Order: sequence, then C-alpha cells, then structure tokens
Amino acid sequence: QCNPPACEPSDWIEQKASPKIKEGMKAFNLSNDTLRKNMDLFLDNIQRGLKKDTHPTSIVKCFPTYVQDLPKGTEKGKFLALDLGGTNFRVLMIELDIGKCDMKSDVYAIPNELMVGTGTELFDHIAQCLADFVEKQGLQGEVLPLGFTFSFPLVQRGLRSGILVRWSKGFNIPEVVDGDVVQWLTEALERRGDVQIDVCAVLNDTTGTLMSCAWKNPECRVGLIVGTGHNGCYLETQANAEMFDEPDMGSGRVIINLEAAAFGDDGCLDFLRTDIDKKVDNDSINPGKQVYEKTISGMYLGELLRLYTLRFVEQGLMFGGKFADVFRKAEVMQTAMISNIESDPIGKYTNTTEILKSIGVTGASDQDMLNLRYICQAISTRSAHLVAATTCVLVKKVGEPKIVIGIDGTVYKLHPNFRRLMKEKMMELIGPGFEFDLMLSEDGSGRGAALVAAMAAMRK
Ligand code: BGC
Ligand code: MG
Repeated sequence: QCNPPACEPSDWIEQKASPKIKEGMKAFNLSNDTLRKNMDLFLDNIQRGLKKDTHPTSIVKCFPTYVQDLPKGTEKGKFLALDLGGTNFRVLMIELDIGKCDMKSDVYAIPNELMVGTGTELFDHIAQCLADFVEKQGLQGEVLPLGFTFSFPLVQRGLRSGILVRWSKGFNIPEVVDGDVVQWLTEALERRGDVQIDVCAVLNDTTGTLMSCAWKNPECRVGLIVGTGHNGCYLETQANAEMFDEPDMGSGRVIINLEAAAFGDDGCLDFLRTDIDKKVDNDSINPGKQVYEKTISGMYLGELLRLYTLRFVEQGLMFGGKFADVFRKAEVMQTAMISNIESDPIGKYTNTTEILKSIGVTGASDQDMLNLRYICQAISTRSAHLVAATTCVLVKKVGEPKIVIGIDGTVYKLHPNFRRLMKEKMMELIGPGFEFDLMLSEDGSGRGAALVAAMAAMRK
C-alpha cells in the first residue's frame, strides 16, 4: 500500500478503487501482447490500403493526399482557411512569412440540425460564415486563396478535389456522399456572389497537423488527431503509395491519410472491444463504421463513461444504487468530464463534485467519486494505449531512426495524462532503433491549411 505522494497517482487510484468496479473495467487494461496484436493488424491493414490490388477491399484506406512535400519554411502570403469536422467550426485568416505566422480566427456554431440536414443548408451556412468573416476582417475585394480543412474521409483526385466517402462524428447528410466537397463549397459561394474566394486546396486535419508541425520542426513525419474523432497521416514514399496517380514533383514522397478511424470495421478488433463498446457503436449515427475511433475519441469516451457508470449504479455498486435515471440519459456525460475528473488532485474531488452536481447527482461518497475516477482512468488509459500502439506502427513504417509526431485534438490537449500515457506506452512497444518526440500542433487546421494552400498556389 502506498500513499498519494509516494506513488503514481494512477496506482493509488487503482489500489483504492472497489474490487468489483475494477473487475468490471478489467477489459480496458490491455496487455502489451494485446497491443502488439493490434499493431500487427494495423500494419497489415496499412499494407493492404496502399496496394492497388488490395485497396478496394481494405478497411484502412490510406488515401493519398496529393501533398507531395513538407513545407520549406519559405511559404508566404495571405490565406483564408475553413476548419470543419472537429469540436468547432472555424474560419481563419493566416498570414505566412518566413518563420512567421499570424492568425485571426472566429468560431461559428454548426447547429445540430445542419449536421443531419441537406447539403445546401450546410454549405450555405458555411458560405455565410465565411462572408461574415471576410467582411469583419475588411477583406472584401481581395481574391484570397483558401485552404479547406475538411476532416472526414475523402478520396482526393487532386489538391483541390475531394470526394466524400462517408460522414462521421455525428454528421450525416447522405446527398453529399460521393460528391466533391470543394464543388459544394464553390457553388454555395457562387450562389451568394458577394465573396471572391479561390478554394485551392482541401485537406484532412491530420495533414494540416503534420504540415504545421513540420513547418516548425523538419523532422516531423506523422500527424495525429485525438479529438472529437481520431485519425493519422504520415509521409510515405511514392513507390509504396500505389494509389497515387500524379507525377512526382521532385520529392518522391506523398502524405497518406490513413483514415485510421475505420480500423476494425471488418471485425478484426472485436477481440478487444467490450459489450459496451458495441452498444456505443450500435446507438451511434453510423453503426459498424469508424469502430477504432469509437474506442479512442472525444465523441465517444463520455458515452463509455456514462454506460459503465450506469451499469455499476444498476448493480448497486455506486451512488447507493440511486440516480440510475440520470445515467440513462444519452450523452449526459461528455469526454471533457473525464479530463476534469482526472485533473482533481488525488484525494480531492472539487471538479468531480461540480460535475456530479451539474448532472443532478448529489451526496456521493468519496469512495463513489474515487470509483468514478477509476472508470475515467480506465477509459482514457485504454484510448492512450491504443493510439500509442498504432503510432508505433507509423514510426516504424516511416523507418527513419528519429522522427517527430505532430498531434492535435481536444482529448490529447485537455486530458491531464494522455500525453504521458501515450509516450510511456510507445517507449515500451517501439523496440530498439527508433526514437520519437511528441509535438503538440499549434493550430494545424489553420496554419496547415494555409501551408497547403500556399504550396498549391505556387504550383498553378
Ligand atoms: C475522420 C477523419 C478525421 C478524424 C479526426 C474522423 O472521424 O474520418 O478524416 O481526420 O475524424 O478529425
Ligand atoms: Mg480540429
């Protein structure tokens, strides 16, 4: 037995949590053997996604992005960017100069009904926000190049063309699927006719993350998002990227958008998914799709917390068996609560008490709150360890002895231990001969979009 200061906070929680709660969360404690199995499967999926003959049936699609190189640091100019597909929808203006990057941005809401409405409604709303922003910044009259960070699976036909494969993260607008999102945006802008914008690149948020980190650190080779959703990209040689059909512009490389969220959609991860993982998936707007993401990202971890808590309440193991109705309400708990609960100092429950109060749970004992924290810890640790495992695969796939990994996303940024958990697990799994650093991306969706737009503008 140890006391809080003498051991790792997580060990202490582990020791004090009720045995039945620990038993109920056991499946979240993934052994290194399980994680290695996950790594082998992921590598196999990547190989299949990259190769022409296996690509059509592969789950991890490994889409070429048409971004053939990392930034040189000499990119210059004034750009607009749109960032759609995370916690916020944003419009940005970015001015790049050698070694410098100035940014102005505004956050706009995407009302829930627009996430599941019509394509015209969504893109008219986006165009409206863009027009408002342009006016507010006094940019009318300038024709600015725009980079569109669109964080959903896209088959790219070029830098400025992206065919939507499917929606994720709560969006579902069927008529846009199979259409070119750049065209949807351009048409919405034309319908208004009041802003002149040249959409010159569409990119995934992981690409933006990689680009923005590489701009600061030339050793960056991987971009990851652990936010509302989860995904990764990495720099591959064109010879391996068999689906890439553009002439080599000199680098011999191309960024691959893995669309890692779909890993497991063929059932290959069922050995580590729990009954409640399956329930979260079934109750989602896209059952059977983006299975990996549903064990990792911010859109889903709060639901895992709610459903496990509900189970323990119903078993009479927490809150004196009361308040089950609170936890029966979908989405009553959010992933931010996990970060906040785990941010309480060990043995103190300031955030936890607030959170419980906010959802209508009162009179919780310290043991209840410690158990709740244990559940949070189990969920966030599994997420970090899964990301660690698949990131190791990318480090090895890149094959260089030392690389930097750029990461962004609310879970990674706001959770107090995510980075440490991920890094520690990577050190255990990576094996000899590989070194890596985890680098927080500062606004990949903005600066990254501007960098890609700058490179596109230079090619025209
Ligand atoms: C999407 C990816 C995106 C990720 C992170 C996933 O749901 O499929 O394209 O990169 O979320 O935003
Ligand atoms: Mg984002």
